[in-house]
Amino acid sequence: MKKTKLVIIGSGPAGFTAAIYAARANIAPFLYEGFFSGPAGGQLMTTTDVENYPGFPDGVSGPVLMDSFRKQALRFGTTIFSEDVESVDFTRHPFKIHGKQTAVEADCVIIATGATAKRLEIPGTGEGEFWQKGVTACAVCDGAMPIFRNQPLFVVGGGDSAVEEALFLTKFGSRVYIVHRRDKLRASKIMQQRAMNHPKLEILWDSVVERVDGDRIVRSVTIRNLKSDQLTQRDAAGLFFAVGHTPNTDFLRGQIDLHDNGYIKVEPGTSRTSRELIFAAGDAQDHVYRQAITAAGSGCMAALEAERELSARGYIE
Ligand SMILES: Cc1cc2nc3c(=O)[nH]c(=O)nc-3n(C[C@H](O)[C@H](O)[C@H](O)COP(=O)(O)OP(=O)(O)OC[C@H]3O[C@@H](n4cnc5c(N)ncnc54)[C@H](O)[C@@H]3O)c2cc1C
Repeated sequence: MKKTKLVIIGSGPAGFTAAIYAARANIAPFLYEGFFSGPAGGQLMTTTDVENYPGFPDGVSGPVLMDSFRKQALRFGTTIFSEDVESVDFTRHPFKIHGKQTAVEADCVIIATGATAKRLEIPGTGEGEFWQKGVTACAVCDGAMPIFRNQPLFVVGGGDSAVEEALFLTKFGSRVYIVHRRDKLRASKIMQQRAMNHPKLEILWDSVVERVDGDRIVRSVTIRNLKSDQLTQRDAAGLFFAVGHTPNTDFLRGQIDLHDNGYIKVEPGTSRTSRELIFAAGDAQDHVYRQAITAAGSGCMAALEAERELSARGYIE
C-alpha cells in the first residue's frame, strides 16, 4: 500500500486549493479527483460563465477555471488519482483510503468532496435542452446574467433557500414567481413574510412546472395547478431550482461526525472535524455560502491547519 503524509479527497475549488497550499509547503499530497462521483473539477465543470470569481473582470468559463486550478496543483507536486474514494478507515492511524483502484495510507486527510445541487426531471430542463440556457440551480451565481434582466423568473422550491433565491432575483427580474407544490411554504416565518410582502414576488401555490420551452434560451414555462389541473403557459427567461443540495459524504458515515442532513460537522471557524488529523473544506461542510471562492478559502484553511498539525506531531519538519 502506498504511504503519504496527506490525502485530499475531491477536486473542486476546495480540494485543488488545499493541494496547491500543501504542495507548496513540500507535503507532496495525493489527491483523488473522482470519476463516477461527478466531473473531476467539481460543480463548476457543469457551468458556462463564472462572473463572480475574483481576478476575472470579464468572467471565466467554469471548466477553464478548474483546469487552471488543476495545473497549478500539479505544478507544485500534487499526485492526482483519477478515481473515486469508495471507503475510508479513520478509526486507526495511519488512516486508510480505498480508491477504486488505489489504496493509500495517510497521516492526515482533507475531505473536499463537495455537494450536488438537486434538480427535478422536468421536460426542457436537461443537458442539451435549456440547462444553463436559462435553467440553473444557483441564483447567486447566475442571477445577474443579462438574459435574466427585467424578465419574468421562476424559482422552484418552498424552503428558506427558495425564498432567499427568489428575493435575490427580485433585484434583476421584472417579476419573480415561486412555484410551490403545496399551499404553504416550508420556509421560516420571517422569510415567508418577506416573500409575501415583496411587491415583485408572487407565489404560485399548489403548482408545479410542467415543462420549459424556448429557442436558443428559455422563453416560457408551463405551470400545472395541482388542484384544478389547469395548465398555463407563462413568459419566462429563467427557471431556478432551489430544491436543496446533497453533500457527497455517504462514504464517511461512521468515520466522522455528520449533521443529520449529511454535511460534515466542523469546529466553528476551523476545518477541524470530530477526528484529529481529519479536516474538511468546501461545500461538503458548508450549507450556507456554497460558492467557489468560499470553497477555495476553506481549502486554504484546511491545508494550513493540516500542515500545522502534521508539524506539531512530528510527521513533517
Ligand atoms: C451549475 C452551477 C453553477 C455554479 N456557478 C457558480 C458561480 O458562478 N460562482 C460561484 O462562486 N459558485 C458557483 N457554483 C457553486 C460552486 O460550484 C461550488 O460552491 C463549488 O464548486 C464548491 O467547491 P468544492 O470544492 O467544495 O466542491 P465541488 O465543486 O462540488 O467538487 C467536489 C469534487 O469532489 C469529487 N468527489 C465527490 N465524491 C468523491 C469521492 N468519493 N472520491 C473522490 N472524489 C469525489 C467530485 O467529483 C467533485 O469533483 C455553481 C454551482 C453549480 C452547480
